[in-house]
This record gives sequence, C-alpha cells and structure tokens, in this order.
Amino acid sequence: MNRTVQQLPAAERAPSAAEKAMFEFAYRLATPLWVFDIDHSCILLANDAACAVWQAESESELQSRDLSEGMSSTVRNRLLQYQADFADGAVFSELWTVYPKDEPVSLDVQYSGFMRGAGSFAMLCEASLPTDVSPENIRSTEALLHTDVMISLYKRDGPPLYMNPAARTAVLSSDQTLADLFVDRRENDVLMFELDRKGEHNQVSKVYTDAGLRWHSLSAKLCADAATGEPAVLVTSNDVSDLKIARDKARYLAQRDQLTGCYNRTFLKQTVHDLAQFPPQRCALLFFDIDQFKQINDTYGHEMGDDVLRRIANRAQAALSKLDVLVRLGGDEFVILFRGFSEQSDLIAQVEQLLCDLRKPFQHNAIRLSPTVSMGLAFFKPGKHSLTSAMSQADIALYASKVEGRDRLTVFNEVLGAAAKARNQIELDLRAATQRDEFILYYQPRVDFVSKKIVSAEALVRWQHPTRGLVPPNDFIPVCEETGLIAQVGQIILERGLEQIESWNQSGIDIELSINISPLQFESSDLINTLARFAADPSFPAHRVELEVTENALIGNVEKIAEQLQDISDLGYRIAIDDFGVGYSNLSYVSAFPADCIKIDRSFISQLPGSGPVIGLILALARQIGARTVAEGVETPAQANWLADQACDQAQGFLFHRPMPLDDLKRVLKEDASDSQPS
Ligand code: C2E
Ligand code: MG
Ligand code: MG
Repeated sequence: MNRTVQQLPAAERAPSAAEKAMFEFAYRLATPLWVFDIDHSCILLANDAACAVWQAESESELQSRDLSEGMSSTVRNRLLQYQADFADGAVFSELWTVYPKDEPVSLDVQYSGFMRGAGSFAMLCEASLPTDVSPENIRSTEALLHTDVMISLYKRDGPPLYMNPAARTAVLSSDQTLADLFVDRRENDVLMFELDRKGEHNQVSKVYTDAGLRWHSLSAKLCADAATGEPAVLVTSNDVSDLKIARDKARYLAQRDQLTGCYNRTFLKQTVHDLAQFPPQRCALLFFDIDQFKQINDTYGHEMGDDVLRRIANRAQAALSKLDVLVRLGGDEFVILFRGFSEQSDLIAQVEQLLCDLRKPFQHNAIRLSPTVSMGLAFFKPGKHSLTSAMSQADIALYASKVEGRDRLTVFNEVLGAAAKARNQIELDLRAATQRDEFILYYQPRVDFVSKKIVSAEALVRWQHPTRGLVPPNDFIPVCEETGLIAQVGQIILERGLEQIESWNQSGIDIELSINISPLQFESSDLINTLARFAADPSFPAHRVELEVTENALIGNVEKIAEQLQDISDLGYRIAIDDFGVGYSNLSYVSAFPADCIKIDRSFISQLPGSGPVIGLILALARQIGARTVAEGVETPAQANWLADQACDQAQGFLFHRPMPLDDLKRVLKEDASDSQPS
C-alpha cells in the first residue's frame, strides 16, 4: 500500500526548476522515465509511460507516494550503495521488480545518479520490459540482487567486471581489484596458484572492506566472462568474521591459562606432537616453580599469590624468543619449551640469566617480595623421546634443585635419573609397607637434669624393611611427605603411640610420651579426630602425651595453625616445638602458639660452647613463654654440665640413652626406678 509523503517539507519534495527543465524531454518519450529521490524515497518526476508502469493516476499522485513504506532493508541498503556508486559516475543496468499496487512488475532498468541540492541524491531511471521475463530468470536475478552473499566477477588479471549489491556494499571502491582485497597479498598469490592448479579454491582471508578489516570465506572459480568470453574469476564470499572471532576466542581459551595468559598443558602436548612430525630437532623443557609459594599464599592471601604468578609469567615471557613456548601447568608450576637454540651451553646460560631475572624483587602495594624459583632442565628430541619422558626428566631435575636448597637450576643427567628411580622404588615399597604393617616404634628416653630420672620418651619410627633391614626415618619420612603417604603412615604412628601410653598408664608406668607429627598431618582432620577419640576416654592420660611439631609446621597461615594447636591443647595434650632454632620462624613468632616445650636442636648442642649465647637466648625465651626446655643430642658430659648450669630442664641424647625397642625401654625404666630406690 502506498502512503503519501505529506510529512516531508514541500520544498525538499518538489523538483527544482532545473530538474524540471532537465526532465522536459522525457514527457515526449514513450519509454518509462522517472527521477527517484533516494534520500526521501519518493518519485520527483515521471513521464506518462512511467506513471503507467507505476499504475499511477497522474504524475502528482505518483509524487505523493512514500516509497519507503514496505521497503525491505536490503533494498534500502542497496539504495544507499547506489549513492556511493553514483559518486563514481557509474551507469548501472539491473533487472528490478517493483510493486506499484502490491503487484510485482519486472523491468530492465538503466539508471545513473546525480546530486540534488542540499546534499541529497537522486537517480534517473529508464525502464524497458525485460527481454527474458521467464519466472526463472526474474527469480534468479532477484535472488542475486537481494542475497547477502557477495558475488563478484573479476577479470583473470584482477579488475572487477560485475558485483552484486552485497559485494558492492562490501568493497572499498567499485574498482577494487581481487588482489586489492587481501590484507596479506600472499593470500592472493595462494588463491591464484590454486586456481591455476585446480580451477577452484576456497579460503578464509582477512580482507579490506568498507566496514573495515573483516574475515571473508571466499569460494573462487575460474570461468569465462559471459559477455566477452575472456578468462574470469567468479568469487562468492561470506562475511565469517563473527564466526572466526568466536572460533579464535574458543581456541585461545582452550589453549591458554586464564590467570596468566600463558599457554596450557593441552597446547604444550599439541606443539610437541607437531614438532615430532618433522625430522628430530633438538628441544629442551624447563620446569620451574616458585619456592615456598604456598607460604606466599598463606601469609599474604590469594590475591597476592595470583599477582606473583602473573608477574613471574610476564617476566619469563619477556625473556623468551618467539619460538619458545611458556606454559603454566597449574598452581605455581611453569614449563618452557625451548626450540631453536644452537648449543646446549648457550641455552643453559640463557636459563641461568632467567633465574636471575625472576629473582628480582616485586612491589605489591606496601609489600616488597623477593620470591625465588627452582628450575629443572632436560634436553630431548621430539619424535625420539616422548613428552612424558622429557617432562619427567625436567621434573626430576627440578626436584634436585629443591633438595639442594632451592633458588637454582639443575640440568637432568643419568645419575639424577637413577636416584629418582630408587626413590620411586622406595615409594612402591612404602605403599606395600603400610599394607604389611612394617613400621615399628623405637623409644629414646628423656632425662630430667635435676632428678637425673627418665621422665619421658620420644617415639621414633623405624621401617622394618624385608630386605634392607631397619630403615631410619630420615630415609623414608621425606618420601612419605612428598608422596602424601605421610597421612597414612603418620596415622599409624599416632595410633600406635596413643595405644602405648594407654597401656603404660594401665600398667602403672608414669612417664610421658612424645610423638612426632609431620606438618602435612595438620592438613587433614584425621589428626584432631584421632586425638579427640582417645581423649574422650576419661581414663586416657592425654596430659602425658606431647606432640612434637617442627618450626616449619608453624609457618604460613599462623591463625589457622594456632587455632589447631589450641584445639589440641584444649583436649589436654601438650605441644613441643621440635628442632628449635634451625627453622624459618623467629623467636617472637613462637609466642603465638601454645607451646609447652621447646626442644633445642642438636646442631646448637654439638657446637657448644661456641653456641652458648644462642642457647642462652632460647632458654630465656622459653622461660618467658612458660615452656619447658629440652636439649636434643646431648653426647658429652661437658655439654650436659653446661646445660644443667644454665637450668635447661631436660636432656635427650646418646650420653644418656639411644633410641631402643620397647622391651629395652621397659628394662631401662625398671633399672632407672630401682636406682632411685633408697638403698
Ligand atoms: P627428631 O624428632 O629430632 O628426633 C631426634 C633424632 O635425633 C632421632 O633420630 C634420634 O635418634 C637422634 N638423636 C638423639 N640423640 C642423639 C645424639 O645424641 N646424637 C645424635 N647424633 N643423634 C641423636 P631418628 O630416630 O633417626 O629420627 C630422625 C628424625 O626423623 C626425627 O628427628 C624426626 O624429625 C623424624 N621422625 C622420627 N620418627 C618420626 C615419626 O614417627 N613421625 C615423623 N613425622 N617424623 C619422625
Ligand atoms: Mg622429635
Ligand atoms: Mg628434634
């Protein structure tokens, strides 16, 4: 339905005198001719033949129609496109379908444009009945005009021959050649090469368009220009930018670690897999992690932890070449895949430099941090060695760096490999040992300096290995801690110790028992649950059980640990700080914990009298917080005398007793009791 355009200002709607004069000739012609104002979507001038085509009663009735009514967005866009094309002075010929009274009328229209006053555009249209008005032809022509698919025909050497409206809208200018489309000219070379080879080719390319740089999916075919028979290229293209961006984003997300933007494990696997397709080239994997990162997190919070991870990642990235791939495996574990280095020694020097770069201090708000990293490097050849074996070698080297004291680089070698193998065997054996119950407790008495009597014993675990004999704790407790087996082993020791004190209590042996607790045991609720279960029995002498924790167990989330220790203390158990003086905590820090006893580390005792002032300080601190003092590893009478003079409370050491099996302890206790009988 046609509506009038009364709402438009009359002056703009009306043809100017010059336009009227220009059109004067048309009234004498039998060919339909009209002038269409693109900006106002109305017909300005029309001869009788045109009025007949538009089924208008008169020119003025036709002028009053608002042709924007019911106009589809494609037609509107095409009209805008015509404006741009007219600026180039072009004359076009197209098959149009117009709807004068909602009835379709097909016309061959030749049109050219001109600028009206006030910056609006008009087109002079000349219509003739199409030579081929078969519905098939009309529909295919209409489809070509209305489709969003961009269809263009280019001469074989590039200049455009035809573009449908969608293609014309997209190009920068109507004379943009095929090669001019491509942001990367090499893509045009590829296209032409493939066309020559196969006659057709599909590719997705970044192209210059009127709407900026876009991704087009191009489908090109070699053909002949229907008008001249000359070689031509027919190109059909679709804008796939949204799809491409979404796909790239999905790929980015699938390959990247969200926190640091580094690549992830999936990408590393893929890259090494791809490298293996080429003849073996030398690569290297560097594993590194931040020393004591857990403490940074626990002490300063996760926000700080995340910041440290991001900064470490940025620094590492800045030090790498384009060929190297930085990966965050998770937590504080990073991997770098190095390619393209010439000599192993060059790479080692580069990695040493990276170690220094990463060590530089960070400023986070008011906090200055100097985290260090430990590194493990392994060389390998993709295709010859698997990624898994290279990763395990780098991991072994990293482990060696940790054991050697952190903040260093270790390069994998066969000796390290053999040691790791042995450690793995220990781990396997330990798992079996927990099943077969191969752990036994030895007891080392503790003597009171004043009464000279045994007042306590420390339970020290031994592993009764089927072939190796009695294995000391230092050879397997660290492995238990690394592998998480300590949860099980620690639980076995704890229960055995608690049962032991229960039985001593029942048989009238009134000494105390110390049980060593690994820091990792605090991470599970098994510890407190077991202690609570035993303490729930009113006859259980919880006050005679002392739990020994090393200073390092106290570092990190101070509040949480203090709370846990307080809960244990509230159940009636005592707490001792073991190996005091060699850990990371400072003296004042200790007062935050409910410590009943401080065990001065053996290393201080063995250095007496030189270490006298330090021991003096520790004794003073212990007195301040009301804790008992125990000297560990007392081996000589001179040491014992010095400690007794300084009013240290108790001693434990080979001078008095070595660790011994239960039966021996019972005998020693008996002798100790009889010594004290009045003679
Ligand atoms: P620790 O808790 O400091 O235990 C004292 C260690 O010093 C014992 O070694 C003991 O034999 C040794 N020692 C005692 N007096 C002397 C001495 O005069 N001279 C010398 N040279 N050494 C002396 P052991 O039994 O080999 O235990 C070593 C460490 O293993 C323990 O140090 C403790 O940290 C750990 N450990 C032992 N048993 C357990 C346990 O049941 N659980 C946990 N988590 N750790 C344990
Ligand atoms: Mg101990
Ligand atoms: Mg100790």
